[in-house]
Amino acid sequence: MAAKADALALLPKEMQTFVADLGWEPYRANQIFKRLHAKMALSIDEISELSLAMRALLKQKAVIGYPVIAGRTASREEATIKFLLRLADGKNIEAVLMHYNNRSSLCISSQVGCSLGCSFCATGGMGFSRNMTAPEIVGEVYVVARALGRRINNILYMGMGEPFYNYEAVMRSIRLLTAPEGYGLSQRQITVSTCGIIPGIERLAAESMQIRLAVSLHAATDEVRSAIMPVNRIYPLSLLISACKEYQARAGRRITFEYTVIPGINDGPDQIRALAGLLKGLKYHINVIPLNPVGGGKPGLREASSFSKALDNAGLIYTLRRSRGTTIGGGCGQLADKRLGNRLPG
Ligand code: SF4
Repeated sequence: MAAKADALALLPKEMQTFVADLGWEPYRANQIFKRLHAKMALSIDEISELSLAMRALLKQKAVIGYPVIAGRTASREEATIKFLLRLADGKNIEAVLMHYNNRSSLCISSQVGCSLGCSFCATGGMGFSRNMTAPEIVGEVYVVARALGRRINNILYMGMGEPFYNYEAVMRSIRLLTAPEGYGLSQRQITVSTCGIIPGIERLAAESMQIRLAVSLHAATDEVRSAIMPVNRIYPLSLLISACKEYQARAGRRITFEYTVIPGINDGPDQIRALAGLLKGLKYHINVIPLNPVGGGKPGLREASSFSKALDNAGLIYTLRRSRGTTIGGGCGQLADKRLGNRLPG
């Protein structure tokens, strides 16, 4: 028996082919796509435009690969909510919702675990389990939006995993989320964050997409960066910054550089000087993030604030990020709840 299609994975054109193969009229494709991506139907039974017999046939040919919400933890003022999401094979991932000024941003995962082992990141300590599929990625957005009864305005590919190590599924998920006949997000409402995978930056530059690129920099010399981000040994800073410059020349958009301040490691004057040199000639913005200790404890606000002042003195453009969700283990670098319980290789 042929494997069932995941209906949530199909782009509008692919849905037309799928519907034609079932012998249905073309307008059914739009009905199904709309129901799945605009109305965020969680099951085939919710596609009420189709007769019961059609839904029965669709169930024989397709599934909907949604994650389910297995737990949620909210910060005291409900400004940040961390969702534990269970995938069909029992693996768990996390997504973090942040409310700010009547807008909702969702930080989503693109892999179960991560292979890159950044020293300040709990996900890195979990190891890598598997890539997520495009329906699992868009499913994070839809299950959370449905649970809240509210539209999510911004999507950040900044949760568990390195998006460019799952490039095809991530790009498909972006095309699904931005299809006008579906959820209809603008590409500018999407940020993809990489820890500096140069082939991914080059591929994205060739896509002619309007999405925003963020690069997790976290240090400005190879010595320090390689010590806290092993990926720097493969893609050192000089090559990474050249790739960013080429990306900017093609895409024309400002790049955000994420900088988690690790007291005593990457906040010295040498790093500030090196940073000023690296970013020369780029349109950039630095997000300064206080360190969220992996095992809990107070974020390093004081050190992040001193680092910001030093950036100021050097004439660099930055924003000191408020630490969101740290009390619920939902801050940057904290996504690896004990309840994740994924069985990882090794
Ligand atoms: S910071 Fe990102 S790339 Fe580094 S280990 Fe964590 S999830 Fe992976």
